[in-house]
Amino acid sequence: MNKTSWLQRQALLHPKRLAFLTSKESWSFSLLAQYAQNTAAYYYELLPANTTRVAIYSQNHTNLYLTILGLWELGIEIQFLNRRLTKSEMLYQLQDANTQVVITDDAHLSFESIVAFGFPNCVDLPVATAHFDLGYREDQIASIMYTSGTTGNPKGVPQRFSNHLASANATKKNMHLDAHDTWGLVLPLFHISGLSVLLRSVALGLTVRFYDDYAIDTVIADVKTEKVTILSFVTKMLTDFVTNTTKAYPGLKAILLGGGPVSKHLLEQAKDKHIPVLQSFGMTETCSQIVALPFDQATKKLGSAGYPLENVTIQIHQPDENGIGELYVNGPSVVKEYLNGRAQDSWTKTGELKTGDLAYLDQDGALYLVSRLSELIISGGENIYPAEIEHVLVQLPEISEAAVVGLSDATWGQVPVAYLVLNQHTSVAQIEAILRKQLAKYKLPKAYYIVQEIPKTANGKPLKRLFLTKERVNTIEYQLT
Ligand code: ATP
Ligand code: MG
Repeated sequence: MNKTSWLQRQALLHPKRLAFLTSKESWSFSLLAQYAQNTAAYYYELLPANTTRVAIYSQNHTNLYLTILGLWELGIEIQFLNRRLTKSEMLYQLQDANTQVVITDDAHLSFESIVAFGFPNCVDLPVATAHFDLGYREDQIASIMYTSGTTGNPKGVPQRFSNHLASANATKKNMHLDAHDTWGLVLPLFHISGLSVLLRSVALGLTVRFYDDYAIDTVIADVKTEKVTILSFVTKMLTDFVTNTTKAYPGLKAILLGGGPVSKHLLEQAKDKHIPVLQSFGMTETCSQIVALPFDQATKKLGSAGYPLENVTIQIHQPDENGIGELYVNGPSVVKEYLNGRAQDSWTKTGELKTGDLAYLDQDGALYLVSRLSELIISGGENIYPAEIEHVLVQLPEISEAAVVGLSDATWGQVPVAYLVLNQHTSVAQIEAILRKQLAKYKLPKAYYIVQEIPKTANGKPLKRLFLTKERVNTIEYQLT
């Protein structure tokens, strides 16, 4: 057996094993590999000669899934564009990556000097007459994803097959994955949390239940009938899942949760309903989760992101008296550079990636995320972590969203101020009555501004840095008194 393609190897080892499942279709690895070959043949004819990199701008659908697998058989690097990017954000990423071809499901997309193609109906393509096996080489770039742009301009992250393979293997070990597992894929494939599910399937031989439309009822029905044993979620989906759950699901092994902070309250609700949630920490640069709770310890360390996965090292750099410092990570799934050699000082001389996140380890070595380093507020020499204040604020029924940032202050250096989205009117006195019970006085926001919405990145992360620029002036409705 000398196949390099992960998919073709799975087809050889377990031709009949279920690879891909939707509400309408179910394909074995053998059939999936054949469709991928047919799709490869189609793009081989279609794409301009010498195309080495192609961008994709698309929602989740079966033709996207097969297009990814087909392009990889051709050894083509795929740049994933977030489907919610604005045209100018997209153009920046395309030009930065020097990509000239886009495959898209948006019929109106057009750029000067960039060739745009729609998707073929991959299942109906003629059977390939040639055989393609040019991809999946260790050092090859598989995917290029841009970071969310939460802290600055998004950076292009070249993710290699070796990074993805290390990530898949480490996940397998941590979650005790086996051939009976079916992973529910509801997250977008343009995000690493979604793409990593496809990658695990072809690297490890797992079944994917693919949803081209997120509907919590369908997901729950599949969990109930044990069609799905593992899910990857973001917080909003977990909230929906918890709300709609009345009794335990014996076939559900884990819900992997990551990508951002999650409230302890939600984790407790899940625990009460016997929903096995695995918190994890990951970045675009680490090719999905790099720290996670082991699946048999999901409820023992509520609020923790877990322990480093296999072959991963983590370090808290220059911890303060509370043990909080910047998280450094290293391991085979961590990329070593950004596109165009950008921000190379994000890596130490010995290769650790500086995550830009503040964190600490408990006595057992479990990791807890505290804040972004760039969001830390230092007021009169005291450290204030915005998330701590935000968590208390959103517990008030009148407040639906809160973002706390540090403003420059002549006396204190910085002071915290809060931007709030309200459900119903409230007052500073009412808010402070609650906050004073839970937070030290120096942490109380010095002002409260009411806004229509908290600006977000295309990944839905709060763009707090905008509140520190002139743009904030336009979004404020009034100051709360
Ligand atoms: P940019 O690097 O452009 O500022 P970003 O860091 O938001 O954007 P991503 O790679 O999508 O881009 O997100 C990684 C970040 O998400 C981490 O550095 C961390 O701040 C946050 N994150 C991931 N998992 C968790 C978690 N379990 N708890 C808290 N934060 C998390
Ligand atoms: Mg980042």
